[in-house]
Amino acid sequence: TAPLLSVDDLVVQYHRPGASPTRAVAGVSLQVRAGEVVGLVGESGCGKSTLARAVCGLTPAAEGRITYDGTQVRPLRVRRRDPALTGVQMVFQDPYGSLNPRRRVGAQIADGIRTATGRGEAADGATPEDLLTRVGLSAEAAERYPQEFSGGQRQRIAIARALAARPRLLVGDEPISALDASAQLQVATLMRSLAVESGAGLLFISHDLSVVRLIADRIAVMYLGRIVETGPTAEVWADPRHPYTRALLAAVPKPDGAGVLPAELPGDVPDPAEPPTGCRFHPRCPQAFDGCDREEPQLIAGGVACRLYAA
Ligand code: SF4
Ligand code: MG
Repeated sequence: TAPLLSVDDLVVQYHRPGASPTRAVAGVSLQVRAGEVVGLVGESGCGKSTLARAVCGLTPAAEGRITYDGTQVRPLRVRRRDPALTGVQMVFQDPYGSLNPRRRVGAQIADGIRTATGRGEAADGATPEDLLTRVGLSAEAAERYPQEFSGGQRQRIAIARALAARPRLLVGDEPISALDASAQLQVATLMRSLAVESGAGLLFISHDLSVVRLIADRIAVMYLGRIVETGPTAEVWADPRHPYTRALLAAVPKPDGAGVLPAELPGDVPDPAEPPTGCRFHPRCPQAFDGCDREEPQLIAGGVACRLYAA
């Protein structure tokens, strides 16, 4: 069956006056199927949020295409009028900024319902109270204001508002990174079960592999605008192949309580406006060898873009 979301050779550019365009997403292909959870991981500055915004039609593609349910995704101007895309809903990082502090929670969810359906009633007849219950809050929460809730509860409210549109694809852009540790796994697990139970797809973006590995069916690792490794979560976890994936895994806290291992990575993600030549990872790669600074590896069938695995 055709994937719910298909991203093909996507390039997204930022324009700054007096500078050449920055390719924040520099040729990415990615699929999400109905009922599937795909975890997109990588450090900040790798283009994950830009990819998410493009998928939701909030930022235009310079090259390539994004297809949702057979429809090509268009940027915002058109998206507002395109009912096909109400089925794509985004949950943002900041549960404080994404809710209006002066409106009751129930009214804000009702707004979500109206935006999605053009009526006061959700497509499946669900009320704001029903949606709050679905995300693990009480129906009475509808009468209260956002500031009466914790960060984790606010994120549940934002998820309830997204559910008002009965999304077939949920996109979470670092939806847990502003939450405290105890709320992180709860909210991530909630998003997974809501998506899977309703047959929706979930693109879950995070820099925290230790959470992503618990909820994602597949993982895609992004570095400086490119996917460098992708595969079933269990396989990537058991046998990471790209040196960047290995470094990310080395930074994950161990379940035996041994604490956070130091990342092996020297330096920061380079400026995407001036990506390194050849393999974009070569200045930080512990396994770089002759030619890595000249030849850019492509993602091969096995799901890794690294010259160590070239055929
Ligand atoms: Fe490292 Fe070379 Fe592989 Fe890039 S292509 S990840 S520099 S070994
Ligand atoms: Mg981001």
